[in-house]
Amino acid sequence: ASKQRLLVVANRLPVSAVRRGDDSWHLEISVGGLVSALLGVKEFETRWIGWAGVNVPDETGQKTLIKALAEKRCIPVFLDEETVHQYYNGYCNNILWPLFHYLGLPQEDRLATTRSFQSQFDAYKKANQLFADVVNEHYVEGDVVWCHDYHLMFLPKCLKDSNPNMKVGWFLHTPFPSSEIHRTLPSRTVLLRTVLAADLVGFHTYDYARHFVSACTRILGLEGTPEGVEDQGKLTRVAAFPIGIDSDRFIRALELPQVQDHMKELKERFAGRKVMLGVDRLDMIKGLPQKILAFEKFLEENPQWRDKVVLLQIAVPTRTDVAEYQRLTSQVHEIVGRINGRFGTLTAVPIHHLDRSLDFHSLCALYAVTDVALVTSLRDGMNLVSYEFVACQASKKGVLILSEFAGAAQSLGAGAILVNPWNVTEVASAIGYALNMPADEREKRHHHNFLHVTTHTSQEWAATFVSELNDTIVEAQLRT
Ligand code: UDP
Repeated sequence: ASKQRLLVVANRLPVSAVRRGDDSWHLEISVGGLVSALLGVKEFETRWIGWAGVNVPDETGQKTLIKALAEKRCIPVFLDEETVHQYYNGYCNNILWPLFHYLGLPQEDRLATTRSFQSQFDAYKKANQLFADVVNEHYVEGDVVWCHDYHLMFLPKCLKDSNPNMKVGWFLHTPFPSSEIHRTLPSRTVLLRTVLAADLVGFHTYDYARHFVSACTRILGLEGTPEGVEDQGKLTRVAAFPIGIDSDRFIRALELPQVQDHMKELKERFAGRKVMLGVDRLDMIKGLPQKILAFEKFLEENPQWRDKVVLLQIAVPTRTDVAEYQRLTSQVHEIVGRINGRFGTLTAVPIHHLDRSLDFHSLCALYAVTDVALVTSLRDGMNLVSYEFVACQASKKGVLILSEFAGAAQSLGAGAILVNPWNVTEVASAIGYALNMPADEREKRHHHNFLHVTTHTSQEWAATFVSELNDTIVEAQLRT
């Protein structure tokens, strides 16, 4: 039998297109969480639908890009610059992202935001319809359509309006906030309704799923059941599907000679000191200032550790054109500078802060030589960095300090030291506890986490979601 086709619809395609000429394109594959998740799912024939990250205003460009992407099983959605500005930068990243992470509606110039809200929301609807048009064009009866993330909350409704029989799933990669937070969103009602048009709605954790169901009962007045949300006899299934990583990819990378060499260099470089590691996008949600202040407090209270520990912080630049992110960057730099000035010596500083991204192999080497990883997100849908660290620690069995506000706390809670990132005193003492932890406790905790990370993989996540979606539809047919 031929494989079932899976149309994966996400804001961004897993490739970035760079124009090389009138009709020539260079494509770069990016292996993000979602891509590696679906690479391992062999039972479906997967197609990707999304934006290629470039503005292509001319017909020649569009035609040639469609052709180039087809070889990668990708289908582009073309968005003009104004739409990208209003839909992506505006509604998605300035409104939904902060709100879903409990940062509230934008603080800066609230009135300007209030005024532009409607036009951004209109652009969001329009963009979602453009995605739907491309899906409709390529949909074949029997296909499964899997919509991803807060960028596409309108999409399930657009799709079902044109074809009520389409199998539609939607998955959110961020937290879904408490209904009290969701209530503040001017478009709160319609966004719940449009998501509910899907057959299956998925979240990383049980808490997020519960928040979504309460939002539907409180704001829409619908009935929440253990299965999901019911509206006049029609059930939308709501459930938790915690994502994982392709752990084998990390474990295999550690065997490569270039990674081994890199690990050796790092070990020599930091010989005699314990290595602590942070890997985050430089985003408000990651709690970087809080993390660094906690490390300062630890050094303050533990002078004997000052020349025996180093914090390596990789801070990947993100949204660098946005004032709020620029301010965060300067704030972090200022704190790092102050602490290095305070505790550094002529030959060593306590914090190595890098404002750039690392390639996959360098990252693996860093994970492997780390003694204590420090993840202090104020909110985080899942946090894959914590999983990746665990996957690379088979020989070292280092300690993971993990924010209780990361989705990963639900799955790695038994092995990690969970902390409230807002409580600098608590994080500082967790650092001390981690650095002094006896080997047998480290091994036990690591074993717990390693078992979880290597058995709850991204491939399994994707396969479970799609099979649950198929089952949901069979059950709905049996009910009618
Ligand atoms: N990452 C990377 N290069 C870097 C730093 C991070 O490729 O220099 C990757 C990392 O391996 C992880 C992802 O970025 O897969 C971050 O995912 P996470 O869920 O931790 O946070 P997000 O950035 O999605 O909020």
